[in-house]
Amino acid sequence: MSFTAVELIEIKRDGGALSAEAIEWLIRAYTDGTVTDYQMAAMAMAILLNGMTVDELAAWTEAMLYSGDVMDFSDIPAPKVDKHSTGGVGDKISIPLVPLVAACGIAVPMISGRGLAYTGGTLDKLESIPGFTTRLEPNRFRSILIEHGMVLAGASETMVPADRKLYELRDATGTVPSIPLIASSIMSKKLAEGLDGLLLDVKTGSGASIKDLEDSRALARTMVGIGTRHGVETVALITSMDQPLGHEVGNANEVRESLDVLRGVGPEDVTELTLAFGEEMLGLAGIDGGRDRLREAIDSGAALQKLIEVTIAHGGDPAVIENPDLLPSCANEIVVEADRDGYVTRCDALTIGIAATRLGAGRERKEDSIDPGVGITLQAKVGDRVTAGMPLARVRYSDQGRWEAQRDLLASAWSIEDDVPPAQKLIIERIGESDGI
Ligand code: URA
Repeated sequence: MSFTAVELIEIKRDGGALSAEAIEWLIRAYTDGTVTDYQMAAMAMAILLNGMTVDELAAWTEAMLYSGDVMDFSDIPAPKVDKHSTGGVGDKISIPLVPLVAACGIAVPMISGRGLAYTGGTLDKLESIPGFTTRLEPNRFRSILIEHGMVLAGASETMVPADRKLYELRDATGTVPSIPLIASSIMSKKLAEGLDGLLLDVKTGSGASIKDLEDSRALARTMVGIGTRHGVETVALITSMDQPLGHEVGNANEVRESLDVLRGVGPEDVTELTLAFGEEMLGLAGIDGGRDRLREAIDSGAALQKLIEVTIAHGGDPAVIENPDLLPSCANEIVVEADRDGYVTRCDALTIGIAATRLGAGRERKEDSIDPGVGITLQAKVGDRVTAGMPLARVRYSDQGRWEAQRDLLASAWSIEDDVPPAQKLIIERIGESDGI
């Protein structure tokens, strides 16, 4: 059967459903360049506006998954378990988490992503380590995994190539916050990894792609259902993204803070989520010991050592891990100050994420390069008591014009009031296999 892109776009535009054959053709034709970026952008917008049926989503995810090779690591004896986040501001958890669980005996074959809209991406963060490459051929991916028990790479011409193209396109066309597009993007990558278990971190709140709790629940249940049907034990945790995680936002800044977690001196929220996710992953791997084992891997230096080894394997400069002052940092620094006394009742992840992106930490067009040294260090978060003139954040930037344009926006991220705000929960809900749809 033959199709045309325009005919399929029109079906979705008008609220119809695409057949599995049409979806398979579309994803194949987009991957090989027959369907253009502008046609796929129109399709992505039609999907964002009109959604997908359960059958369409299943076919779309399969077509993305089989756009490249599906890896088989059954010859590796360690349990293969990965984690993926739907994306947040200051969400650097994969960087400390992966070496930590690898140091405890799990094999993590992670295919990760770049920044998406105003949320940061693990690949961009890791590439702020000089020399660190996340572009790996399948053989190199496998050999690093076998040797070190972990590997962190991007989708490529052979590993989920359809997501490699569509991810960049969605980022630049306002089509990120669609439940079926997020679910298929994440699950196609994860199912290509040959996993035994998968932990999903579904962010909810202002800085998440999906902001509403009920929608986040639907996304979590959808992805858990897809994983389960493919024979991968899948669990999702819904976690809060109303304020950024930790104190650092921006690529090199977030690597620096991740290293603090592995040295046992990280901020409480990032450390707590890293340990909680680690416990879930050990549970999925059937490895005993839980939190004690994870803490031991931090205290003994084993997790940090694992990151050093893997940095070398990825071509990165390990001196940066020993001395994070060698990480890139922009020349200009400015302080955002509190304009009154009181308690911080809001430190808005969305506003801070947009300001960081526009200062150069993220991309506005898919051709843009990012500035790894742009960073926002948060010095007051929700619940902190401040007095007028105290720093709320220190901002590092290179372009004065960009800073002038973001100054007011960034200052608007904080609300300061007289009363202490209620404590915020980090982990809101756990969605297990029986909750999947
Ligand atoms: N991570 C992904 O890989 N894809 C998305 O769409 C969102 C987060």
